Amino acid sequence: MGVTSPWNELCRDGIGEDIYSLAAEIYPICRSITGEGVRRTLDHLARHIDLCVREIPTGTQVFDWTVPREWNIRDAYIKNSAGERIVDVQACNLHVLGYSTPVHAKLHLDELRKHVFTLPDQPDLIPYRTSYYAERWGFCMTHNQLMSLPDDLYEVMIDSSLEEGSLTFGEYFHKGDSDEEFLLSAHICHPSLANDNCSGLALLTHLAKRLAGLKTRYSYRFLFAPGTIGAITWLAYNEPIVHRIRHGLVLSCVGDGGGPTYKKSRRSNADIDRAMMHVMRHAAPSPTVLEFSPYGYDERQYCSPGFNLPVGLFQRSQFGRFPEYHTSADNLDFIAPEHLASSYRMICAAIEIVERNCNPINLLPKCEPQLGRRGLYSAVGGDKDGPARSMALLWVLNLADGEHSLLDIAERADLPFRTISEAADILSESGLLTRAC
Ligand code: ZN
Repeated sequence: MGVTSPWNELCRDGIGEDIYSLAAEIYPICRSITGEGVRRTLDHLARHIDLCVREIPTGTQVFDWTVPREWNIRDAYIKNSAGERIVDVQACNLHVLGYSTPVHAKLHLDELRKHVFTLPDQPDLIPYRTSYYAERWGFCMTHNQLMSLPDDLYEVMIDSSLEEGSLTFGEYFHKGDSDEEFLLSAHICHPSLANDNCSGLALLTHLAKRLAGLKTRYSYRFLFAPGTIGAITWLAYNEPIVHRIRHGLVLSCVGDGGGPTYKKSRRSNADIDRAMMHVMRHAAPSPTVLEFSPYGYDERQYCSPGFNLPVGLFQRSQFGRFPEYHTSADNLDFIAPEHLASSYRMICAAIEIVERNCNPINLLPKCEPQLGRRGLYSAVGGDKDGPARSMALLWVLNLADGEHSLLDIAERADLPFRTISEAADILSESGLLTRAC
């Protein structure tokens, strides 16, 4: 139909594989809310995008919180009396309780059990556990393994450090025509969990990489920060500029085959809320839309009342609702290139909406203009989408009274935004419409 969209460029082939391979690359790294794991992960992302990395010192006051001491881990194991490593953090980094204090001791089984976390209902899986704000040490293992341990004298060793250091986050900024921003944020604080952090980090990195070549209306800010304390720290340092954020999305768990799920911003009727609902309705057979609640990922901070930013949460399966969540089953087999690609396309479609949305005005509003004489019916006919495109022309002309946006028209016409937007382009080229944004 003669209209090309620069947004097709964002979604060209191979995106799912690109995202998956980056997720697989960062999956083995032992991350936490601070420490070398975060830095090493950011190093991997920085091979694709021009990342700005910030270090905020331990002890820095950020609103009601304090940047914690930095945690690093070199090794952790449990050995039996024969000297065999029966639990080894080198084999799976979920084995150590995140933020464990260092320990080196010999214990009998009954003492050891007080420091072991398992999932009795999922006895083959290792749980993911942390203790950021209470000092303790611990191990995680499968329930079956714990049940099979004989009484013995076990050597436990956690070679970790909790010291003055810093909290690390990374940002990538794409400058658009306007200073108004679209914020995209993913957490970087989980160890080897593929869906719950690697998928979002990898998807946003590749989105940033492809967006870099495009001229955009909005500026785009990509934030890779540890959950909760990272978002709080970023907000504390960026308070003077957050008013520029016009749209925002937190991404997590974007690589599994469930959902899609969208949790609305606290405002509940922000442009991003409407855009995501529209996109999901046209992209998926049974999307789930949730009202805002003050629990979840970093939308909790962005949507706290002192900020109230238009930021929603996009996921495939809802966190906490899938059995693999926060266990060793959230591994690279649980995510797939096709699901990553479809999540990516939905985010791109929402970006396309906020980029192209405007309130058009019909320049010949008295009765219908003659479309046939202008060759406009033939311009949209010829394939199976021809009738929808013809209807799109009529809907745009009818609702282009300055009161309705293209998204309003798409919703009213029950047609995908792009069909409506392309119809508006054709009408503009024919001199029947102005589409000043
Ligand atoms: Zn999580």
